[in-house]
Amino acid sequence: MFETVQAAPVDPILGLTDAYKADPDPNKINLGVGVYQDANGVTPVLPSVVEATRRVVAAEKTKSYLPIPGSPQYGAAVQRLMLGAEHEVIASGRGSTSHTPGGTGALRVVGDFLKQNLPAAKLWLTDPTWANHPAIFAAAGVATDSVPYFDSATNGLAFDALLAKLRTLPAGDAVLLHGCCHNPSGIDPTVEQWQQIAQTLAERGVLPVLDFAYQGFGIGLEEDAQGLREFCQTGAELIICSSFSKNFGLYRERVGAVTFIAADADRRDVVQSQVNRVIRTLYSNPPAHGAALVQTILDDDALATQWQAELAEMRTRINGMRTLLVKKLAEHGVPGDYSFIEKQLGMFSFSGLTKQQVERLKQEHSIYMVGSGRINVAGVSAANVDRLCAAIAAVCG
Ligand code: PMP
Repeated sequence: MFETVQAAPVDPILGLTDAYKADPDPNKINLGVGVYQDANGVTPVLPSVVEATRRVVAAEKTKSYLPIPGSPQYGAAVQRLMLGAEHEVIASGRGSTSHTPGGTGALRVVGDFLKQNLPAAKLWLTDPTWANHPAIFAAAGVATDSVPYFDSATNGLAFDALLAKLRTLPAGDAVLLHGCCHNPSGIDPTVEQWQQIAQTLAERGVLPVLDFAYQGFGIGLEEDAQGLREFCQTGAELIICSSFSKNFGLYRERVGAVTFIAADADRRDVVQSQVNRVIRTLYSNPPAHGAALVQTILDDDALATQWQAELAEMRTRINGMRTLLVKKLAEHGVPGDYSFIEKQLGMFSFSGLTKQQVERLKQEHSIYMVGSGRINVAGVSAANVDRLCAAIAAVCG
């Protein structure tokens, strides 16, 4: 039966982790997969999560199913974190949040929702974008295309080209933007630029879809949500996909959310009925544990304050590594101006290294990064930065 099945290509990012694990070099460096690492290269369980786990396990009375969209208290906590407790969307009850298995699950729910309910809509992705985006929407049968985003000449946002393209999109299409800490470029619009983007999409009748996987990894929890909030003007409709893999360090618990914001509460109920239908056929209802941890933390003032401090520590470490990297690249005589690395936000940096240089770093120095030259800055530490920069100098020379 299976003799006609062809082997699938190796996932470009997860395949890199396998290659890294198989490398016997004790000084190998993994800058590939987007997972936070502390100064010792460890991806920690946050102490706030340890405490929340203790409480959740102690209080748990049943393993019976959750409702299709998950726990309503979780949905409410997610909305408060994204929008701020006083937001009009919350007051008017026109947003509806479903707990999904990770941000990936949220994106796939959006894919199936678009395919089934807005079948004529094309989804526009930023160029570049997270490698899994096109694959997720292709799997759902949604047509995708791309809008300009990154300008390699300036290592910045191709804002004029982006806006010009958005102005040509037909009404009824959708655009997937990264709410903050754009993956892979690390380049986000300014608040003023977000305002113009949001206004343009509203004028054209194009549906904004925000992928919000790194709240708190850029500048701060509030600051990172500012762009997204520009889309949430009174009456505006949009979709937000959240992931708590990074900011709560809950990667393997698969905890995310999809929020559909409709024009009013009645529309919200109609839309949610279709979202429920999608979820029912994809995974029926969500796994409880990870969301219970997030809800426990967000609903307890002391625990939430502790979590915010732990998140700030991760963010501060990454930003510190950006500064160190720029300094050490110069010290090791790597040609060129790398100061742009310090201006990027989040875990990732587009290093500007070519495919050939990336391949040499892997083969000759056991340093692993994605072929595009995307670096996970969290993989850099005081202990490995000199070896890393010396290797980059060697392949750039
Ligand atoms: N969106 C973006 C932009 C991401 O980088 C990621 C994770 N790499 C996700 C979504 C998915 O996150 P999760 O692991 O929660 O599925």
